[in-house]
Amino acid sequence: MGQEIKLLDIKNLVKVFTIGSGFVKSRITAVDNVSFDLESGRSEIFTLAGESGSGKTTLARIILGFIEPTSGKILYKGKNITEIKGRKEEMWFMREVQPIFQNPFETFNPLKKVDSYLYETVVNYGIANKREDINSAIDEALNLVGISFQEIQGRYPHEFSGGQLQRISIARALITKPSLLIADEPVSMVDASLKMSICNLFKDLKEKQKVNVIYITHDLATSYYVSDRIAIMFRGTIVEIGPVEKILIDPKHPYTKILRDSVPEPDPEKRWKEKIKLSSFEEREFLSIGCKFADRCPYVMDICKKEAPNDIILDGVTVKCHLYSS
Ligand code: SF4
Repeated sequence: MGQEIKLLDIKNLVKVFTIGSGFVKSRITAVDNVSFDLESGRSEIFTLAGESGSGKTTLARIILGFIEPTSGKILYKGKNITEIKGRKEEMWFMREVQPIFQNPFETFNPLKKVDSYLYETVVNYGIANKREDINSAIDEALNLVGISFQEIQGRYPHEFSGGQLQRISIARALITKPSLLIADEPVSMVDASLKMSICNLFKDLKEKQKVNVIYITHDLATSYYVSDRIAIMFRGTIVEIGPVEKILIDPKHPYTKILRDSVPEPDPEKRWKEKIKLSSFEEREFLSIGCKFADRCPYVMDICKKEAPNDIILDGVTVKCHLYSS
C-alpha cells in the first residue's frame, strides 16, 4: 500500500543563519532538524509555542516560502514547496496556504479603504472579475468571520478596533478558500476581551470550514484553549510534541514545565522579523553539542552536555530528553 499523502509533511528541516561580522562570525541553527506533519482529510489547530528566539517564526516563514531552508523537505499535499516553479504553481500554493499577521494595523495601509484589500485579493487570485461576483466573494468571506460587507464598505482601518481589523484580515485570507492558515501571534495585539472571540473564530473555521491552522504563540493559555496538538520549541528544536492536554497538563520536558509556569512577554520587534540577535548566553545554547537546555535545566546530568537527546515516545507524546532514555 502506498503512503498516505499528508496535508503538510515537514522532514528534517534545517535553517542556518550566519551572525556577527568580520572575523567574529557564528553559524546559528535557527531551525534544527524539525519534523512534524498535518494529516489530510481532517482539520486541526496545531500550535508552535516557545519564547522569542525559539525558531517558531523562522519555521513559519520557511513554510510560507518567505525564506529558504538550508536543508530538509516541506511537502504540501505531496509537493515539495522548495521546488515550486512558475506562476501557476506559486498561485496554487498561495491560495492554499495563507498567512495571518500579528498586527492587523500593519496589515492595512491607514490611507486605503479596507474593502479595497478584499477586492484586490479576489481579483489578483482570479476568483472573480465582475463587480457583482467580486462583491459576493467578499461578502462570503466576511460572513465567515461574522462581519457584513455593509459594515466595512468605504471605511478606513482607523475606524475599526484591533479585533475587528484582525477579523477582516482573516476574511481576506479566507477569500482564496485556503486549507491552511499560518497565524503568527494573531491575538497578541488584540484587546484581552476580544482574544477569545478570535480564538473561537479559529475553532469555528476548523470545525465548519475544515481549515487547518498553525498557531504560533508564546501564550500557552490560548494555545491550550484553541489547539489540538502543540509543539514546544527551544533554540530551534522541537523538544516536546503531542496532544495539547497531555503536554500542558503533564509536561515531560523540563523546559515545557518552566515555560508553562512562567510565560515571557512577547517582543513585538521580533514577530515575523525574528532577527538572530542573541546574548552570548543564548548563542552558547544554540551552539551546544549536547542538550541546548542543559545550562538552565534543574535536572541536568553529565550526558546532557555531551550528547543531544533523541526523540522518545512516552504515552503519545514525543519528548527529547535524556531523563527518559532507558
Ligand atoms: Fe535537562 Fe538533560 Fe533533559 Fe536536557 S536532556 S532537558 S539537560 S535532563
